[in-house]
Amino acid sequence: MSSTTVITNIATLVTNDPSSGDGSPLGLVRDAAVVIVGDRIAWTGESSKAPATDNRVDARGRTVLPGFVDSHSHLVFAGDRTEEFNARMSGRGYTAGGIRTTVAATRAATDEELEANLTRHLAEALRQGTTTFETKSGYGLTVADEARALRLAAAHTDEVTYLGAHIVSPDFADDPAGYVALVTGEMLDACAPHARWIDVFCEKGAFDGDQARAILTAGRAKGLHPRIHANQLSYGPGVQLAVELDAASADHCTHLTDADVDALANGDTVATLLPGAEFSTRAAWPDARRLLDAGVTVALSTDCNPGSSFTSSVPFCIALAVRDMGMTPDEAVWSSTAGGAAALRRTDIGRLTPGARADLTLLDAPSHVHLAYRPGVPLVSEVWRRGVRVVRQGPVAG
Ligand SMILES: [Zn+2]
Repeated sequence: MSSTTVITNIATLVTNDPSSGDGSPLGLVRDAAVVIVGDRIAWTGESSKAPATDNRVDARGRTVLPGFVDSHSHLVFAGDRTEEFNARMSGRGYTAGGIRTTVAATRAATDEELEANLTRHLAEALRQGTTTFETKSGYGLTVADEARALRLAAAHTDEVTYLGAHIVSPDFADDPAGYVALVTGEMLDACAPHARWIDVFCEKGAFDGDQARAILTAGRAKGLHPRIHANQLSYGPGVQLAVELDAASADHCTHLTDADVDALANGDTVATLLPGAEFSTRAAWPDARRLLDAGVTVALSTDCNPGSSFTSSVPFCIALAVRDMGMTPDEAVWSSTAGGAAALRRTDIGRLTPGARADLTLLDAPSHVHLAYRPGVPLVSEVWRRGVRVVRQGPVAG
């Protein structure tokens, strides 16, 4: 028998089940309890009605929400781009070319160095409430280096994405077609066993619409499902290609035509917004309000990477989305939990409903609104993953 645990005295419980609690999309239950059996949620409801269990944890009036689902990150890398950031903040624009700096450092790193860096950033994200993350290759750009990145990532998450098409490898500067042939051929064969997804940076200076279609179609033939870096730095074909290929997600969506928004509203592709990138490059924000008003499913993620968005903090992204992108606090919390799960086509995470994975975050606050209301404050006090408390913050007794 699995042990049973009840967390009681929860001021606000976010279930993401509209049939629970207040009937809103967040399914808010006040004065709530959650029962965990093994690694799953078994029951949610009012604290006074909670069934008897083996163990009892008092939330002491804190908020409980599903662990964040960060559906877009780039965590297998080496090196540092502090100087590039510093220069950019002194007035220089960002172009896709900066990725080459990280490619050189990543190729030069040992497996142990990459693993240590990945583990450090995952621990950092976990402390901030992220219980599921997707991560990509894309800083190797050789057959061996891309396969190595995916192998290292796959030891930590099921949500691994092959991004050999991040930029054209510097080794193929004069032969982009040759690089696309590699990405769709030998590199794909080496990478597909380690990945669930295939991604491409569809952008001027990276890959155009025809190249992106060829790369994603080749990946799909090897059993990988598409997602796209689309319409980040300029208007382009990425979003419509994502919908056409039934990609799980079109990521960034910063420059959208009305036709792009219509396509997203009428397809099953989630629009994943990554405001850390606009923050860290002083770029115009994606218009979340426009997408939400059109009926598009929106996810919110960090894009954690050393060049254009070096934050692992979903709470920070929530604060930006509410302050600058027209999202309500409820929408931003939904997008960073249930929305992230939708962007990964998962139904077992991003919600606290019977049968879902017992991945949850406790906030030292009476409601989830405080994630935006108290920006920069480390409100995450506990994190549970698969029914086990893995983070417990607090001052050292002394
Ligand atoms: Zn990215």
